[in-house]
Amino acid sequence: MRTRLFAWVGLAGLLWSLPAAGHGINGHVHVTGWAIERLPPGEVADFFADPELFDVALFAASFPDSGYAIDDPYGEMAHWPPFLEAYIRHVLAEAGPPFDTPEKRRQAAFVIGLACHGLQDEIFDSIFLHHIREHDGEGQDSADSGTDAMLSTDGYLRFKPPQWAPIDDLIEVFAAEGHAVEAGTIEAGMARVKVFVIDAFPNLAPILDERLRPLLPWTAEHYIDPAVPGSLAAEIPATGAFIEALWARLHGRMPVAAMVGHAYPDGRRRLMSLDADSAGSWITLVLGIGARVGSVTAERVALEGPAGPVPFDLHHTRWGGSPDDWTRIVQLRPRAPLEADAAYVVRLEPGMELIDGRVFDAAWSHAFRTPCAPGDGCPPEPMDGGVLPVDAALPDMAPPDATPPDRGLPDVTPDAMRGSSVDAMPDGSVGADAAPVASTDPGGCAVGRFGRAPIGWLIGLWLALGLGRSARRRIGG
Ligand SMILES: [Zn+2]
Repeated sequence: MRTRLFAWVGLAGLLWSLPAAGHGINGHVHVTGWAIERLPPGEVADFFADPELFDVALFAASFPDSGYAIDDPYGEMAHWPPFLEAYIRHVLAEAGPPFDTPEKRRQAAFVIGLACHGLQDEIFDSIFLHHIREHDGEGQDSADSGTDAMLSTDGYLRFKPPQWAPIDDLIEVFAAEGHAVEAGTIEAGMARVKVFVIDAFPNLAPILDERLRPLLPWTAEHYIDPAVPGSLAAEIPATGAFIEALWARLHGRMPVAAMVGHAYPDGRRRLMSLDADSAGSWITLVLGIGARVGSVTAERVALEGPAGPVPFDLHHTRWGGSPDDWTRIVQLRPRAPLEADAAYVVRLEPGMELIDGRVFDAAWSHAFRTPCAPGDGCPPEPMDGGVLPVDAALPDMAPPDATPPDRGLPDVTPDAMRGSSVDAMPDGSVGADAAPVASTDPGGCAVGRFGRAPIGWLIGLWLALGLGRSARRRIGG
């Protein structure tokens, strides 16, 4: 009982110490797992059919927040495109392709899982958090812990990946990016996440749920609603498309279709709202690679409807808005109400500067429809992806369609890309392109050199004393 009490205190303190940005760690682990389970048949799905690699990616999806748990800047760094770019270069140089040994495959799985975390934070914060504020009047502090608690109490949590990371490689990449961190620091950060957030979370979730659900009635209804952009369920196809894009990059190719991996609304759904004052009227493109904010300008983005060009405000990732920041979010917020049940197109002109040194040198477009006016009888929105089963194998939910991720477009190498002009998708839809395009043993390593119960006590004490508060910070800056 005493151990359990300390675990609760430790977990409460740890959650308090985690940054108020992005969503909960269990959300990251599960969205990544659900996305992998829904990958279309092919190379990437075959790769992750190995349960060990699946687990490696899932733990990696928790990794960036482990830096906050130990109050070390490595966590902040691990969220962002510059670190990811350096890490991908490192994996390409040290491990593959063709990733023909178990160790090399683990490297590839880890970088993919780690990358998913940062993207999911950008999506949640840049889209869904605005919906939460609009409907519940609540912000990040309640949304982060609240959605993780609801996932647990609503019965959705089923992944408890074992603790593992390629520590030596991570240390090398952090050092190359200007941050020295020791193995023991990373191991301790990961152990806190593993023990208190992944494994012990069901103990605390009901308490958090009881406190936060009353503040978040709309969120409780929609946090796993695939029809609401940026919800945990709506992150799944975007994460799947991102995994496909990462896989392409890890094999030295990057199809144009993967550069804009997903869009809200996707090709199958209508925009949520006609009301220009609502986040439901926003159109958000999710890039498969970081683009320099200063190169994603209003001159390179257009929104056209039945009556011609539509004025909009252009936004990027919520975190970081200066020209030399990197964004994976391109968001159009119409300045006037859109027409009901009408076709609109978003266009991107060439010129976006990508973090791998390439320039997006292709015209691209995405078509979508607006909702019907109330009572006008639009068909219901598709709801697949919205029923996440509890402790059971997922039903056979096909991705939006089975079109191969690159849709037959040529792979674009850096040279070819600068000289090529690939036009819009055949039907202008990105939804189809985007479709995609467990162990519970914390073990000795999971709790470092202290053993499980003692470190639980130590962390509980450490956190209860408030030392963890110093770890709180905002992403971006
Ligand atoms: Zn995070």
